[in-house]
Amino acid sequence: MHEHDAEIEELTEAIVAYSVERVRLDPPPLDRSRSYADLLAAAGQTITPDGLGGLRALEVFTEVLAPATISVDHTKFLAFVPAAPTEASVLFDFVVGASSIYAGSWMEGSGAVFAENQALRWLADLAGLPETAGGVFVSGGTGGNLSALIAARFDWRRRSDGRNDRVRGLMIASTGSHSSIASAARAMDADLITVPADERGRLHGDALQAVVDALDTDDLARVFAIIATAGTTNAGVIDDLDGAGRIAEQLGVWFHVDGAYGAAALCSSTVRPKFAGIERCDSFIVDPHKWLFAPFDCCALVYRQPEIGRAAHTQHAEYLDVLHGDEPVHEWNPSDYAHHLSRRARGLPFWFSLATYGTNEYATSVDITLAVTASTAELIRRSDHLELLMEPDLSVLLFRRIGWTPAEYQAWSDAALLAGEAFVVPTTWRGETVLRFCFVNPLTTVEQAGQIIASLV
Ligand SMILES: *Cc1c(COP(=O)(O)O)cnc(C)c1O
Repeated sequence: MHEHDAEIEELTEAIVAYSVERVRLDPPPLDRSRSYADLLAAAGQTITPDGLGGLRALEVFTEVLAPATISVDHTKFLAFVPAAPTEASVLFDFVVGASSIYAGSWMEGSGAVFAENQALRWLADLAGLPETAGGVFVSGGTGGNLSALIAARFDWRRRSDGRNDRVRGLMIASTGSHSSIASAARAMDADLITVPADERGRLHGDALQAVVDALDTDDLARVFAIIATAGTTNAGVIDDLDGAGRIAEQLGVWFHVDGAYGAAALCSSTVRPKFAGIERCDSFIVDPHKWLFAPFDCCALVYRQPEIGRAAHTQHAEYLDVLHGDEPVHEWNPSDYAHHLSRRARGLPFWFSLATYGTNEYATSVDITLAVTASTAELIRRSDHLELLMEPDLSVLLFRRIGWTPAEYQAWSDAALLAGEAFVVPTTWRGETVLRFCFVNPLTTVEQAGQIIASLV
């Protein structure tokens, strides 16, 4: 099955034709998920001793499976955090797959790692981190946060000369932080204290200080990280990064900024001031697969002092030691900077798009989504039946359909998806079921948002 023959020639053409057509579709069909029983009936058993043949397997995908996946890049997909990969980034994903690159080590993947690191450098510069900063692309924000926090705890233990080796660590985040922070705490068997966020869902330095002041001496000594969010997922608000960073510095603990969704907007000069203080961080993450127009799966993890990340994560094994010679600093092994080993060069589609369009286009595209968010907020303010719950910091809008019950929100959401019109799901805000739009797609227009709003009467 590894030989190149006429059959594979035919399959190549079919796959390329399908993929190119899908990339060009604007908008793609929204589609929707189907039940397991439905899918089994339509697709049948696809894994067989003799194989289906490539064309038949492709047909199962294009006819049955693909339409049972929601197109995250649809311009009226405003649920969760959508994606809007550029055509250049998606096409380059092809190239990455075709190139069989092992991007875990410099020895095997230097060219790919070099390019990934230039893309990481742009992000580090946006955040105001020093020349010596560096990191790695991991699969997503969840893995990025976990890897950063493992490095934070490693650093805390190392600096204690063994005193903290058996002490359970403690980290502090806000109630608005992403679920992956609590997940990291569970995975690391560490404690997590959450600071009450303000009425906008924002972490304030004062509130953080009050929580710190209330800790007893033992607990205070257990704190190894303070985590702030630059763009909360539910409300899109940016924590008081400067305040949180100062407190972390006073305590001498690691300051991590989770910018999985929001830190993309560092490239926009209009909102950059809201991120003041991010330059204090010891590590931050941002997901190019969210608002930086790259395909899944791509999270940039950047450390102020990458040598700490490396000390925390490098795997040692007889067969790996050849990779860890007296390497000059430029010989970067991405495997060493997160909780992983083998890795795809998943930063390359993002790098290629950045290299293709240039950083100015990135700023412009983020600014377009911010402008559409602001105009849509105005539409909501002017609608008698709707109520905007807060002014947006970034590109998330939370609003109420006056008089609706949770069941009515859900029924409206289901109907919009069934009709292939839009994908918007209810969320909760301060205990109340409300609606949420999240804009990351520069092709989404105010008119399209207006059509969704009109269907809410
Ligand atoms: C999306 C998100 C995450 C998790 O990222 P994944 O890539 O889905 O793992 C973490 N933090 C924030 C603030 C997010 O918005």
